[in-house]
Amino acid sequence: MNPVLVVGAGPVGLSAALALRARGLPVLLLEADPKNRERPGSRALFVHRETLRLLDGMQPGLADEITSYGQTWHTRRTLYRGREVYSRTYPPPTGTPPFTSLRQVDTERFLRAACERAGVDFEWDARVTDVHSTASGVRLTGEDGRVWSGGFAIAADGARSTLRRELGIAMEGSRGEGFHVVVDVADVPGAELPLERVFHYEHPGVGRRSVMRVPFTGGFQVDLQCRDDDQQEAYGTEEAVRRWLPSVVGDGYTERILWVSTYRFLRKVAASFTDPHGRVLLVGEAAHLFPPFGARGMNSGIADAAAAAHAVAAAAGAEGAEGAVAAGAEGAAGAVASVAEFAAVRRAAALFNSAAAGEALDHLRPRRRIVRVKQRAAATLAPVLPWCGSWLEHAPYGPRGGTPVAAGGTY
Ligand SMILES: Cc1cc2nc3c(=O)[nH]c(=O)nc-3n(C[C@H](O)[C@H](O)[C@H](O)COP(=O)(O)OP(=O)(O)OC[C@H]3O[C@@H](n4cnc5c(N)ncnc54)[C@H](O)[C@@H]3O)c2cc1C
Repeated sequence: MNPVLVVGAGPVGLSAALALRARGLPVLLLEADPKNRERPGSRALFVHRETLRLLDGMQPGLADEITSYGQTWHTRRTLYRGREVYSRTYPPPTGTPPFTSLRQVDTERFLRAACERAGVDFEWDARVTDVHSTASGVRLTGEDGRVWSGGFAIAADGARSTLRRELGIAMEGSRGEGFHVVVDVADVPGAELPLERVFHYEHPGVGRRSVMRVPFTGGFQVDLQCRDDDQQEAYGTEEAVRRWLPSVVGDGYTERILWVSTYRFLRKVAASFTDPHGRVLLVGEAAHLFPPFGARGMNSGIADAAAAAHAVAAAAGAEGAEGAVAAGAEGAAGAVASVAEFAAVRRAAALFNSAAAGEALDHLRPRRRIVRVKQRAAATLAPVLPWCGSWLEHAPYGPRGGTPVAAGGTY
């Protein structure tokens, strides 16, 4: 049987490979980077409970492995111009925690080890440059001329997806103004900061820019929200971070910076999550880009991966061991339908997530003065009207409710 081809060994491609193996399908994972590559910074920290459940379904025990390494904190605080407006400590959860926080490099380390245990075949130094799909399968070509063929390919090759581009699938959406600075900082051993997530509106130490601090295993991430007219050199270089970091987290951390990056907000969703033949399935950042608030990027990408594996297994089952050519009209139609369902359901989930991230952004980077006025009023009233503090606490992450991560089914 031809392997399913997965392109990209980021968290989403690794999850797709694992999910396919869990369904007994052979997998060849093609990755452009070399085997001993170094991945950048922490990026996605949160692994949500729904994601942990999906991963555990792909390899029992994996969720425990990840949560016993990650951090779960029970206290959330919100401040406004130096004054606390919300604080809540939750009782420790029983069973699977609501989330766990660890650097993306660590999540990828666990996923890669799980793939190796599950028998995924890896091909490193394999940059795919061309894709050709037909009604019966897909052929990928590498930059060195190698060719790989399979019944299906899962495109998990990230934001600049070559497969998406080669298939001519457009990304639709918008690019926001301004930028954020993300800094990973290592703990000072023996003097760790309290295990809590803190969102600070209009922090007086950084010229009333908003700042968030989030713990992860071994350190914490600081996210500084810059203004539209801020210069990157003034806030986003390591030298600049050394200047402003002490006023946010105190002294003693400037020599403990692990990684600095800046990012701009993109809210984009692919016009289609598959090609016209239903042979290539787009997942993760190859299919959608969201601002990080609400932690929707990697989490929804892993839900895409689970759904794609489900669709490919159903399609391969409909075609039978002899493949598409021998399947007959009914088998071929069944295969096409399962991929089409994947594409529709996961695109709807991506649009939901994009809208939710948009709501969070409207709150974080208000275009209208009235939103800032409401925030200031809520901060003033929070001591007497606790729901005002609660609104300030929750709004930066977008709407609650619904099932934004795994929206659209159980895999
Ligand atoms: C600053 C920042 C903060 C973030 N914070 C969060 C967060 O808090 N929560 C959250 O959920 N998400 C967050 N994200 C998003 C998260 O990092 C991404 O959603 C996640 O990395 C996407 O995973 P992926 O596997 O789709 O793509 P990637 O991680 O980009 O992986 C793609 C892989 O494909 C490989 N590749 C690319 N092209 C080819 C090719 N042609 N051939 C073969 N291989 C190829 C690449 O080398 C790479 O290994 C953040 C992102 C950034 C930048």
